[in-house]
Amino acid sequence: MSTAIADDGLHPTSTVPRLRVFLLLPFIGIHVGALLAPLSGFSWAALTTALALYFVRMFAITAFYHRYFSHRSFTTSRGMQFLMAVLGNSAAQRGPLWWAAHHRLHHRHSDTSADTHSPVTDSLWHSHIGWIVQPHNYATNYAMVQDWCRYPELRWLDRHDYLAPLLLAAGCYGFGAGLAWWWPNSGTSGIQMLLWGFCLSTTLCYHATFSINSLAHLWGTRPYATKDHSRNNALLALLTLGEGWHNNHHRFPASARQGFRWWEIDCSYYALRGMALVGLVSKLRPVPQRILAEPTASHGHALPGEKRS
Ligand SMILES: [Zn+2]
Ligand SMILES: [Zn+2]
Repeated sequence: MSTAIADDGLHPTSTVPRLRVFLLLPFIGIHVGALLAPLSGFSWAALTTALALYFVRMFAITAFYHRYFSHRSFTTSRGMQFLMAVLGNSAAQRGPLWWAAHHRLHHRHSDTSADTHSPVTDSLWHSHIGWIVQPHNYATNYAMVQDWCRYPELRWLDRHDYLAPLLLAAGCYGFGAGLAWWWPNSGTSGIQMLLWGFCLSTTLCYHATFSINSLAHLWGTRPYATKDHSRNNALLALLTLGEGWHNNHHRFPASARQGFRWWEIDCSYYALRGMALVGLVSKLRPVPQRILAEPTASHGHALPGEKRS
């Protein structure tokens, strides 16, 4: 059996085995490209491009795929909504509707047997990467994202989620080849820019994002006694531009901010504040005072069902 989308683009119908290979090969190919990147040599141009594409796309994933499309924690224009959906899509983490639908399910069933990616009820491997390559998780659950289905451009993007990554990969190759032609001293080439700028950067983006599903439910502190196993982890917060404050986020998912206290660095939130200043986004949902006033346990709360003396 297999997964296909009905003509209206709204309803998953069945699952086709060919599609599994079709979807899995690019995912494996990007990882292989990342491993091959050092063999293509080093240049500052390639490293700078890889870092820039990592941070820009990580921002699109955390601020827009997560905080906007999954949680509606701020508002923006329809044009910016589509632009950031395309940018997030270029990180090759499927379409915005697929991403948001799975993430909403995670919040509904966190760390129960119905959670798609829990390291508590399943293995670390499954929560990190296994669930993504499972055929039954390929289809978009449109029932979970009815609010976004009224935008035909988002449904179109979701159905053609291979286009943005493909264009970015081609753009990286063209950029590297162009630099090599116009500025030979840059020391780069089309293939080097493809491997560093696209494959390596995308792979790092993958595993930083995936670590929130896996490690941020295992390692870190629990200032809030949430019903799941979510943790706050400063290192993951730095790597993911703020998503590592995951226990905070499970305590109040609707907030545009995940670092609740001044010292909880949340770069995506700072960037959203900057965008709000120039009118690109608005109505950033704050953390309610009642949540900020809640007593937190500096040593961490016990896990659900766990007793501490
Ligand atoms: Zn979580
Ligand atoms: Zn969330």
